[in-house]
Amino acid sequence: MKIYNTLTRKKEEFVPLEPGKVRMYVCGPTVYNLIHIGNARPMIFFDTVRRYFEYRNYKVNYVSNFTDVDDKIIKKAQEEGVDASVISERYIAECRRDMEGMNVMPATTTPLATQEIDGMIEMISTLIEKGFAYEVDGTVYYRVRKFADYGKLSGKNLDDLRSGNRTLLVTGEEQKEDPMDFVLWKPKKEGEPYWESPWGQGRPGWHIECSVMSKKYLGEQIDIHGGGEDLIFPHHENEIAQSEAASGKEFSHYWMHNAFLNIDNKKMSKSLGNFFTVRDISEKYDLQVLRFFMLSAHYRSPLNFSAELMEAAKNGLDRIVTAVRRVEELDAKAAPGELDPQTKEAVDALVHKFVDAMDDDFNTADGIAALFELVKLANTTVTEESNAACTAYFREKMQTLCQVLGIITTVSEEMLDEEIEALIEERQAARKAKNFARADEIRDQLAEKGILLKDTREGVKWSRA
Ligand code: AMP
Ligand code: ZN
Repeated sequence: MKIYNTLTRKKEEFVPLEPGKVRMYVCGPTVYNLIHIGNARPMIFFDTVRRYFEYRNYKVNYVSNFTDVDDKIIKKAQEEGVDASVISERYIAECRRDMEGMNVMPATTTPLATQEIDGMIEMISTLIEKGFAYEVDGTVYYRVRKFADYGKLSGKNLDDLRSGNRTLLVTGEEQKEDPMDFVLWKPKKEGEPYWESPWGQGRPGWHIECSVMSKKYLGEQIDIHGGGEDLIFPHHENEIAQSEAASGKEFSHYWMHNAFLNIDNKKMSKSLGNFFTVRDISEKYDLQVLRFFMLSAHYRSPLNFSAELMEAAKNGLDRIVTAVRRVEELDAKAAPGELDPQTKEAVDALVHKFVDAMDDDFNTADGIAALFELVKLANTTVTEESNAACTAYFREKMQTLCQVLGIITTVSEEMLDEEIEALIEERQAARKAKNFARADEIRDQLAEKGILLKDTREGVKWSRA
């Protein structure tokens, strides 16, 4: 498997720290609002990375946080006149709902920054002890010039950065030794959440949160650290400076960054106001379509959001799901037999094509193209006459590839509810029309799916067996 490593700017063979295991950390959202579909891109992509590693028999320890203490959360809390935790808890719950809709699997651990303050104080203390940090009036700064590798991820040079940031020194941060030094701990301001620390009451800076949560749940060294490309600098550069100075070891071996989701070729972002929330999209589309749309491009290519591309994604997804369901239906009633070697070979070749694409830095676009070829082959090869070995082979391979991409092919509960209700309505109409044969047929069809009907005075009630 090859992964493009932002750190080395090369595609490299993936070699895990421990055979058969992947330790992976992905920076999660700051929870002060509904997530927008730009935020959804790393969620969907890295979930697919995790699924693919699992398909390749790795045991994946996947950690992704929620940043639940931040200026924007505090501002929103003050506007609403509530505690910051009310805001973060609300938007964590909303975010989880969106993730479920997009079929993003819950991470192995989802730490919250506010629950990890002790670890942050500990790491900051270590950095001070080692001379990588210093305190001035309750603020702790990271001493950037002490870390020789500073800039290695982003390719930035400290001198260039310094000259570009000279203005910082005149904007209230004159206590800094160097304009590029960044905050590890800041003193509390009136009305803000705070914690006790050796440097007084205050709260952590953003960068230290991820270094600490990654260390606690994955250890000092991890295989992959991911996020959107806007996080390369300063966030990930600073995470490296903190983690490597504290441990003396390489922090993450591979750094992966997704390109932006754009709209009219501009980054979709809250600050530009050019965004759609995942919730907006869910009103028009099943969120599976959004997932499929995101995966239709390679993660390192910018992706421009448009109604046309969403329609194309919807049609493509329908084609796949319809084909899988058709094969499932034929498989349920196929007669026994043997798998024709030529058919097996043709299916295997397409599965290999999928694997080759995904092995090449998670090329989901080419992976999906291979899946479409498999769909086409299934549509022409699998018929009423196909034997069970053939139908089962196609079914299993198609279902597996869909699962890797996180495409749901089974009827979801919500759809099922609608379907059931539609069938019940049809049955009522059939009875009214004295078409009892059709009415019974529908009752049997529902019973087969474990749906029991009960005629009551208030109408038909249904339940799952
Ligand atoms: P934030 O809540 O802004 O910290 O963002 C959470 C994640 O979403 C980070 O990994 C960002 O890099 C990513 N992200 C934000 N906007 C976009 C976008 N327009 N396209 C792709 N990723 C984005
Ligand atoms: Zn982070």
